[in-house]
Amino acid sequence: MTSTPDHSRENAAPLAGRHALVTGAGSGIGRACAIELARLGATLTLVGRRGAALEATGAELAGAGHGLAVADITDFAAVRAAFDAAADLRGPVAILVNNAGAAKSAPFGGTDPELWNEMLAVNLTGTYNCTHAALAGMQAAGWGRIVNIASTAGLTGYAYVAAYCAAKHGVVGLTRALALEVAKQGITVNAVCPGYTDTALIEGAVDNIVAKTGRSTDDAKAALAARNPQGRLLQPADVAATVGWLCLPTSDAIHGQSIAVAGGEVMCG
Ligand code: NAP
Repeated sequence: MTSTPDHSRENAAPLAGRHALVTGAGSGIGRACAIELARLGATLTLVGRRGAALEATGAELAGAGHGLAVADITDFAAVRAAFDAAADLRGPVAILVNNAGAAKSAPFGGTDPELWNEMLAVNLTGTYNCTHAALAGMQAAGWGRIVNIASTAGLTGYAYVAAYCAAKHGVVGLTRALALEVAKQGITVNAVCPGYTDTALIEGAVDNIVAKTGRSTDDAKAALAARNPQGRLLQPADVAATVGWLCLPTSDAIHGQSIAVAGGEVMCG
């Protein structure tokens, strides 16, 4: 005899009452993460440098009580002020998604100090700044979720993006060290490592392929998609689904991991 599953006791809003802050929420993966966390019931603070982009994301969120904070994550003091203001309005940050980032490519010889420092500042130091601003509140509450959007470039090397790769490997290292430090405090720390995802960020890689090969933009995108064994560019929602899962109360045991969301491009373990 088959039986119909009983879903009546499933919680449709498992993150209700949790304040989630997503950096880089005005576009791409960050926007998808914010939408997913709001769908799961969280109250969002959206962070980025472009207020209009954050407002556009805010208009897509389920639920009420969300807000935004315009801040540059590379600025320690500005991040602290933005997080404190958000906590005054929505309570301490319980869920932090360190998503804001940028990817510039150059051969190593052409990687000047400006490019090197810029990649480390936004991808690695920004993650440190935001985590530093949120951690004490999570510790006081005895519960928290930190999800760092790293990259497959945090797990393996790619030519012509040494600074980005170094920064994303640093994010994975930060994830592992902090996970051990807070393991008994009710806080989980994980990294999500997307492969090539169809957002504005890959436009630089697409432009490089077009410039070097004379291919069309569509052909260049297809070349990136071909690196994924599934033969496709990931969608931001693919990444957001994993972020949402990591933030669930039932994901307590997933800790210190760097999870590739890349269609099999990178295999760990
Ligand atoms: P995206 O659409 O360009 O998003 C990047 C976001 O970061 C933007 O919303 C940007 O907003 C924000 N940002 C950049 N610098 C900032 C700063 N200094 N302060 C505050 N916010 C800043 O690209 P995406 O693909 O969604 O990237 C999101 C994350 O995924 C990045 O960490 C990226 O490295 C990672 N990732 C992407 C891919 C991919 O193929 N797309 C693959 C692996 C990993 P403002 O300009 O408004 O500040």
